[in-house]
Amino acid sequence: KLILAVESSCDETSVAVVEDATKILSNIVASQVLSHKRFGGVVPEVASRHHVEQIIFCMEEALEEAGVDAADLGAVAVTFGPGLVGALLIGITAAKAFAWAHQLPLIPVNHMAGHIYAAQFSHQLEFPLMALLVSGGHTELVLMPEHGEYQIIGETRDDAAGEAYDKVGRVMGLSYPSGKEIDELAHLGEDVYHFPRAMLKEDNYDFSFSGLKSAFINLVHNAEQRGQTLDKKDLAASFQQSVIDVLVGKTVRACEAYQVKQLVVAGGVAANKGLRTHMAAVMSERLPEVTLVIPELKLCGDNAAMIGAAAFVEADKQRFADGHLNAVPGATLC
Ligand code: ATP
Ligand code: MG
Ligand code: FE
Repeated sequence: KLILAVESSCDETSVAVVEDATKILSNIVASQVLSHKRFGGVVPEVASRHHVEQIIFCMEEALEEAGVDAADLGAVAVTFGPGLVGALLIGITAAKAFAWAHQLPLIPVNHMAGHIYAAQFSHQLEFPLMALLVSGGHTELVLMPEHGEYQIIGETRDDAAGEAYDKVGRVMGLSYPSGKEIDELAHLGEDVYHFPRAMLKEDNYDFSFSGLKSAFINLVHNAEQRGQTLDKKDLAASFQQSVIDVLVGKTVRACEAYQVKQLVVAGGVAANKGLRTHMAAVMSERLPEVTLVIPELKLCGDNAAMIGAAAFVEADKQRFADGHLNAVPGATLC
């Protein structure tokens, strides 16, 4: 009934206690962004060190805040991939040790499944379900015929949406990660540059964001060479509108084609206010019969509660691991 969940795939060390896949008793997140900011991205070695320093405190705090101890738990869940191998191994090792010490079953969870299951804290999932996963490392459309079953029907051919945000943010002189700040600037500006909407008209469910990134960088550099500085608000608004148009356009078409009951938008970029608003507007107009579920803001980024929610499904399907569990940095959903 209670699962202790551990997440350490990237730059957040997180431990949560989740009850019945729907209730968060605690969700401790120790973020490392301040340490990575000055490098303009996540440095794997630095990430691993932070996880080692933080993991025990996060575990103790998660149990304390939930008001439970090991004897109350039914299982331990942990992210096994995708992510940075050194970072993943810290969480896996801690989870294994805890599970072994307290004789609890160990449940391996895919990080991207976790992002999808973050939605379950807002709304019961219904199938068939389409998930748009938009994060720092992924942009994909995933069809779920039922709990715990995943079929990737389209994905980015180059950069992930969050990665594109962070890269253009760097060119704009914003600090890492820049998704949130671009989102805020975008609301103050207008789409005056009208960047390309890559692959929007193509008859597939794939994405591409590297052309948009190049168009953006060229525009800024050419302006710089002429001694001009472009308005950051309009740049942000133009970039964001291009990303949103493509994400919404393709997702709506996928929902239509696969006749789903629900659409879940998840991952770090699902925190984007423009995307949330625009997706809701277009979905209610074009596909009012499909329920749109987006996790609440604080559950869009990496956290262990989402791993706990996904773990209940894995437990139902008897997909447990033993002490041999290893990190799978390139794990895909399938
Ligand atoms: P993955 O989940 O693919 O393994 P990750 O765990 O590093 O990658 P997340 O933590 O899920 O990624 O998401 C982080 C990304 O979300 C960053 O690229 C960040 O810029 C982006 N992001 C966060 N908030 C917003 C926002 N409001 N608008 C756009 N992007 C955002
Ligand atoms: Mg992160
Ligand atoms: Fe993530």
